[in-house]
This record gives sequence, structure tokens and C-alpha cells, in this order.
Amino acid sequence: MKIDLNTLTIRKVHDALIKGEYSAVDLARSYLSEIEMKNKDLNAYLEVYDDVLEQAISADKRIKNGNATLLTGIPVAVKDNILIKGRRAGSASKILEGYTASYDATVISKLKDAGVVFLGRTNMDEFAMGGSTENSAFGTSKNPHDISRVPGGSSGGSAVAVASNMALVALGSDTGGSIRQPASFCGLVGLKPTYGSVSRHGLMAMASSLDVIGSIAKTVEDAQIIFDCIKGRDPMDSTSIDLETKPSTLSPKPLVVGVPRAFTESEGIDKSVIENFKSSLEILKKQGFEVVDVSLPTIEYSLAVYYIIMPAEASTNLSRFDAVKYGFHKAGKNLLEDYELSRGEGFGKEVRRRIILGTHVLSSGYYDAYYNKAVSAREIIIEDFAKVFKSVDVIATPTTPSPAFKIGEKSDNPLAMYLADIFTVSANIASIPAISVPSGFAEVEGKKLPLGLQFIAPSGGEETLFALSKNFLKK
Ligand code: GLN
Repeated sequence: MKIDLNTLTIRKVHDALIKGEYSAVDLARSYLSEIEMKNKDLNAYLEVYDDVLEQAISADKRIKNGNATLLTGIPVAVKDNILIKGRRAGSASKILEGYTASYDATVISKLKDAGVVFLGRTNMDEFAMGGSTENSAFGTSKNPHDISRVPGGSSGGSAVAVASNMALVALGSDTGGSIRQPASFCGLVGLKPTYGSVSRHGLMAMASSLDVIGSIAKTVEDAQIIFDCIKGRDPMDSTSIDLETKPSTLSPKPLVVGVPRAFTESEGIDKSVIENFKSSLEILKKQGFEVVDVSLPTIEYSLAVYYIIMPAEASTNLSRFDAVKYGFHKAGKNLLEDYELSRGEGFGKEVRRRIILGTHVLSSGYYDAYYNKAVSAREIIIEDFAKVFKSVDVIATPTTPSPAFKIGEKSDNPLAMYLADIFTVSANIASIPAISVPSGFAEVEGKKLPLGLQFIAPSGGEETLFALSKNFLKK
């Protein structure tokens, strides 16, 4: 049975499954055959599960018994840093060689309860550190719009899987842009929810005060459906909350969209991005929204603050990978040498760089100068956003300063790579929700490369983000 995967959405699949137009097994087979055809070249999956059809059979039983949910039978790809009991998980790192998860992440339990079909685990930058998947220990994923280019990262494999019909939706994690940036590079929707609204239990920690799990999807509604399933307070994550989502404010009064103009047009932003952003704002105006310039003077410091706080937290989190309890191990002459050899070889270059950076900013004598200062600056950025949200409902920026770059183009220049996060990190610093939606294409070397528009809302403003994004995409 041939199913046209291009136009599928969760709701369409659900209706078709309920009507019996095709079964969850038919659907799973269609995705598996796409994976079979494309994964060799695109490297989206590190592993495709061997029980996909069994999972689909269970979904079909549930549908037959009349107790299916909207997500029963939906094929989902999972980033390699989210644990599924009994399955391999490794954050695309050599140090977790052979590690099998002993429990389900809370988001996974929720999706299992809903009856989804897990297709496999997706490639990523090692421990979610990067924006291209070039830091994976298992090769770079390729952007399906131009395979000489990166798909973005760190959830790059998840984005490639969805963009090339190797999954209907995918889970990712976002610490500084890792859902939104690959979504933007691959022409998809990416949601980074409010910090704490989704449990982090079972997500391999990168920077605990910034990490959040979200989804990459083809439509806003699909991202919303996944969010609705996985959100909620969880006793296993003390930072999780039952989010008080504010109802969408699209009507009766038109939404006010704020643009931090000085920032969105600053030096180094690609011309194609600025042009595309301007036309997106024109669309919003035509749709009746009020677009106003806002001043967010501290937003430009978000990146500097991020690259202190993130490595500080990551260096602490990654100290648990001692190569003794699990994973890759290289024996030396004594315990210290064991650590040095195993961590020196088990971790890739970027991860080691961030561990060293993080350890440095936390070390005595530098703690006040770097870490504490960054924490204070974070407070000021949070206040700055709060001030602006008194007069606007949503803030708009491009998602990335350029379209997808070439594989290898930035890999020798970590600073250039870090600058690719310029528009995304501030939402993580301020713990607020943000979404990236496709906003058009840049024509580069005869290829059409997707661009993204980012909307940022105050805490709990997800419904507004969904409503505004859906409206914008109707253009
Ligand atoms: N690209 C950013 C970084 O390298 C974001 C990573 C993320 O969100 N996990 O830190």
C-alpha cells in the first residue's frame, strides 16, 4: 500500500487509521522504506529499531479496540539524548558506547501511553553541543535541501528525519537553539517550550537551567499536539511545573509584535535573512497585527552569558561520565590515568573544550569574574524581556543569522559556530517559550535553502505562539 507521506499530519493519519484507510503497520512500513532508501546518504538515524512493526501491530490492536488516542500509531523519531528503557542511548558520543537505558524518560512514558511508534534514535552533536551535527562521533547528518550543507543542530538528525519523510514528527532538546535552528535550516516547525513545562527526567543533561525537550514537526498543529502530550509537572524533575498556559490573545484585539530592530539588523546577519525577515513582518502587518520596534538593549549579551553558564553547568553534568560505571573505558596505570585516557578519548573535541571552559569559569578566583557575573547578567536580561512584554505580546526575530552553511565551513572556527546561536539563546536564558516557523527560502548556488522566523512569548505563552504561527503560515 502506497501512502503519500508528503502531506501527512498527525490529525490526517489519525483519521485515516480510525477509518481503516490504512493501518499503523502500513504506515510504519512506508516510513521504514523511506529510511531504507535515504538514511545511508542523510545519516539522520544512528539506529532504526528492529521492533517497529511489532509496535505498529500493538497500535493497530488499540485502534481496533476503540481506545486509540490522537497519537496512536504515529511514527516518531527520538533524539539520542532521550532515554527509552532497554534501548541504546548515547548522545552521539563515543563515551557512551554500549550504554542501554534502564528507564524511560518521562516524555517517553507519556508518548508510550499515547501509543506512538518509535522508529529510532537520531543523530545529534555530541551531548547536544553544537549547531550542525558535525560534532557527532558518528558522522554529520546532511541537509536534505542541499546535501553539501549541515541540517543544523544539535537536534539535526531529528530535523532531517522529519524533513525527508523518515518520520512524521521528532523529539529534540533545546538548550540554546537546538530545536529551532535545525527546524529553520530544514524548513520545519520547531518548538522550544517554557523552561520546566516539560520534564527533563531521562534527558541527558547538558545545562540543567536551560535544557528543555520539544518537538520538530511539519506543521504547528503537530508540534502543539506533541507538546500537549509531553508537558506537565513530574515528581521526578523538581524544576518541572504545571504550566499555566495563557489562552491565545489573537483576538479580540490584534496582537502586538515587537521587533528588536537594532539587534535583528546588526552586522554579520546575512542579507537574505534580513530581506526575508522584513517581508515576514509585512505579512504580519497585512494580517492585521501591529508591528512595533522595541528596545531590548541587553539581548545582545545573551550569547556571552550563554557561553559562560552553559559550559559551567555542562562541565558539572558531564563529570558523571567517568568511564567506570558505564560506557567506553580505557585502562591506564592507575585510576587518574583511567579517567584521563577514557575521557580524553571518549569525549570529542568540542565537548572537551566546553568542559575546560566550564571548569575554568567555576574555578576559585574566576567564579566571581565569570560565572557570578553571567548569572547577574542573566537576571538583567530576564528583566529586560519582562519590561518589553508589558507593551508587546510577542517578539519576532529571524531564527538564524544565515541559511544552512556548508559542511566544514565553520568546523575549525568555534566562535563563528557559536555566533549562529545569536537569535535563539536569549529565550533559553530567559526561560521563555519560542517557536521557529518556515518563512521562505534563500536562493544560494542554485539551491533553495529554507529560512525561519522566530516568535518569542512570555512564560506560558505557548498558545499565543501556536495561534500566531498558524496564522502567519496561512499567508
Ligand atoms: N548550538 C548551541 C550550542 O552549541 C545550542 C545547543 C543546544 O541547544 N543544545 O550550545
